Amino acid sequence: MTSEPRLALSTPVADEVRKTTCYMCACRCGINVHIKDGKIRYIEGNRDHPVNRGVLCAKGSAGIMQHYAPARLRAPLKRTGPRGSGEFQEISWEEALSIATGWLDGVRHDDPKKLAFFTGRDQSQSLTGFWAQQFGTPNYAAHGGFCSVNMAAGGIMTIGGAFWEFGAPDWDRTKLFVMFGVAEDHDSNPIKMGIAKVKKNGARFVSVNPVRTGYSAVADNWIGIRPGTDGLLILAVVHELLKARRIDVDYLVRYSNAPWLVIDAPGTAEHGLFARDADGKPLIFETVTERAVPVGTKGARPALSGRHELPDGRFAVPSFQLLAEKYLDPKYAPEAAAIETGVSVDVIRGLAAEIARVAFDEAITIEQPWTDVHGQRHHHFVGRPVSFHAMRGLSAHSNGFQTARALHMLQVLIGAVDCPGAFRFEPPYPKPLEAHPTPHGKAEHFGSAKPLSGPHLGFPRGPEDLLIDAEGKPTRIDKAFSWDAPISAHGLMHMVIANAHAGDPYPIDVLFLYMANMAWNSSMNTAGVMKMLEDKDPETGEYRIPKIIYSDAYASEMVAYADLVLPDTTYLERHDCISLLDRPISEPDAVQDAIRWPVVEPDRDVRGFQSVLIDLGVRLKLPAFVDSRGTAIYKDYADYIVRHERRPGIGPLAGFRGLNGDRAGRGAANPDQLKRYIENGSFFSAHIPLEAQFFKHANQAYQDFAVRMGFFDMPQPVTFQLYSEPLQKFRLSAEGLRAPFAPETHRQRILDSFTPLPDWYRPFEEALVDRETYPYHAITQRPAAMYHSWGSMNAWLRQIHTRNPLYVPGAICDEHGLVDGDWVWVISHHGRIKVEIARMEAVNSSTIWTWNAIGKRKGAWGLDENAPEAKKGFLMNHLIHELLPPKGDGMRWSNSDPVTGQAAWYDLRVRIEKADRAKVSEPHFPAVSEPGRVHTHVEELRYGQEWAK
Ligand code: SF4
Repeated sequence: MTSEPRLALSTPVADEVRKTTCYMCACRCGINVHIKDGKIRYIEGNRDHPVNRGVLCAKGSAGIMQHYAPARLRAPLKRTGPRGSGEFQEISWEEALSIATGWLDGVRHDDPKKLAFFTGRDQSQSLTGFWAQQFGTPNYAAHGGFCSVNMAAGGIMTIGGAFWEFGAPDWDRTKLFVMFGVAEDHDSNPIKMGIAKVKKNGARFVSVNPVRTGYSAVADNWIGIRPGTDGLLILAVVHELLKARRIDVDYLVRYSNAPWLVIDAPGTAEHGLFARDADGKPLIFETVTERAVPVGTKGARPALSGRHELPDGRFAVPSFQLLAEKYLDPKYAPEAAAIETGVSVDVIRGLAAEIARVAFDEAITIEQPWTDVHGQRHHHFVGRPVSFHAMRGLSAHSNGFQTARALHMLQVLIGAVDCPGAFRFEPPYPKPLEAHPTPHGKAEHFGSAKPLSGPHLGFPRGPEDLLIDAEGKPTRIDKAFSWDAPISAHGLMHMVIANAHAGDPYPIDVLFLYMANMAWNSSMNTAGVMKMLEDKDPETGEYRIPKIIYSDAYASEMVAYADLVLPDTTYLERHDCISLLDRPISEPDAVQDAIRWPVVEPDRDVRGFQSVLIDLGVRLKLPAFVDSRGTAIYKDYADYIVRHERRPGIGPLAGFRGLNGDRAGRGAANPDQLKRYIENGSFFSAHIPLEAQFFKHANQAYQDFAVRMGFFDMPQPVTFQLYSEPLQKFRLSAEGLRAPFAPETHRQRILDSFTPLPDWYRPFEEALVDRETYPYHAITQRPAAMYHSWGSMNAWLRQIHTRNPLYVPGAICDEHGLVDGDWVWVISHHGRIKVEIARMEAVNSSTIWTWNAIGKRKGAWGLDENAPEAKKGFLMNHLIHELLPPKGDGMRWSNSDPVTGQAAWYDLRVRIEKADRAKVSEPHFPAVSEPGRVHTHVEELRYGQEWAK
């Protein structure tokens, strides 16, 4: 310490700094917003924030341009011209809310399912879902069905958690990090910081991705796989590990269902299910006493192989035996996988050998005693320092669910789940499947003016939990949880408009959307969806989807199709809650949540959507929002965040609970809670005791911690489900052995895709089109600088990308005589687009690709009609249909994963034809007018060039 006076290096900053949470993508980093004279001067990262530790990406710092964007809506709007024209009249909030209340109240008392309420990249799903439940409609979901539900469902059903919001690599200790197809807004800053640690520590980073951009560009090894074949690559690695006996048998026996006995009784309703005792406990075969005993029997040494007689005379085999038999088959050998994946035999073998070497030869230990849930004391934590991460690239295929399961199975086989150096769970995960609800939405779950009897979304345990009527028809508008997509845990948002337009399974009256750009980049078959939104019944002259309410902060393409627009604030003008009840931001070592708060006041007649929703709840007299006299329980969303309790003592925020703000997790509501969050940088973090930090799925100290924090009311350990019994129940139903029976039309599809052990099959579109006619894959990537369409209208970020060329591998360019700047027609089974190309070598040789959501409709998003985004930008969506090609029997399946309903964006197959050079990409559409035009001090600086002055 020196007593020398500090040198004045610059004039002290006189700004007021307000700390909140970024929303320029979905990572939710902490930010310091500098404010002077009521205006935002700039945004920097919050160094104390656990998610980003001060790191701010280009998107985050450009939040100022999002906040002052010319595209901001400024007042409620009522449509005056035809749908799609963008002609509106500004109205008061009172008028807007009265119209909405009138429409919604009628539906609620008549037939609540006539409301379809779907939200996009909503970070308040615990409120929006709760509101829809109170309203009583079965038709609610957020955007997970067209994003990454395969990852979430595959993970939860296999290990009780998944990547990103459920867990993360142990960045400090991992020695091999393998990443599969990740969009760069999914855990963006944390992954960048993690990769920096991996590099600094001398660990190896392998990226498996058809395109070498972003994270892949800094990988030590890039595996340019053919899209849709990741599952087969993973299973070939499993084949090699089994062949070399490089698996963690002790870990499998302790933590997975590898020893559980599977009934071998073909032709019966129990074939392939677990043998259980009278209390329903799964049985294992004990090798010393040579008898079947319930799992957890003290001192039992379970068999992993053999065929064993059960007390009732039937036979059963340990699930591991089925697993080993399956994956040792030559069809999973590297030689077979190389043909489909385009990855050489040597690379597959090398990857498997490296995974095994690091997992077993470089194992690490942490000298910390701990006790497992069976009461056994361990002297230390043993770590297998191989970590994985995967997101949308692996997930957005019609085989993505099984691929996600395959990856988690691989992690379990090498003992690399929640141990030092591997993937680690983030609280409140892991959660076993049994701790999740089953979906609600059967006819008996709702009725006139009644709340739905439970949550919309969940996990069916078998066909008996499907949301179907007595004839087997779907009860939800998106057909989620029906035979079409039985485990659609996040719904099928991409089917809502098509189904509502067709009146299949029934017509609706009100479509209520929040922050979902369904008339543009968030829909397959975009032009078709626009027509559906405009389409009228020729007999009545009424729109087929009669009423559309839309809420957004910006004049997106979807606004033009709304009848009533409820303008939202920007993320710097409203309260938000990043809740453990919703999409958590915890770290493996700490429980965390956060808030946003109005760091500046709106300068327009806009309101935070969540407060508007609560206001509507009061006007509609939804039971959870009014007291017995019909008076509002909550003033607004901020009040709801503080005072709402989902269970006694459990509210949206875990921090600063109790009357004195000294309780965490459980505790009475604290009127000063938001103040305490703001003083703390708008986040809360509680460390997990060291003894509880690893093996959370089976660690008694963690389970006790989870109960104390209120994640559960009793311990919920997880046994990893390598073999999935719920999937087998659907197969039995498809075989006509278990009621309810699957319809004939769906049986083969279920038999093929619901294998209880993960499998790989060719993506549906690829299997249905002629591969010679459509020889290439076509995919999109998310640029690091953009978050969907929000980012691509941002004045600063537009300087990074203003248009999106089609990137074409060099060999394909040569074959077609193409050079940079040439134009091509890209043709799929559904449509054609005309776009400009750029040559690229760092891409799989049969894959063309472009950046996602940069192309804009003329006139939308406050951009000039001649903006490059509107002229040269384009969407791949025009080539993708929400239905698969016909398969000969007149039926067309939804273009989705058959298990979860995840939109199969990346299954697209195309051909290209050289076209004349042009100035405008095709298709293009008439301009929409600009309802959101706001004149601010940045209006003149529209493209941001002069901002630095
Ligand atoms: S990674 Fe996402 S949340 Fe974090 S600063 Fe960038 S845009 Fe904001």
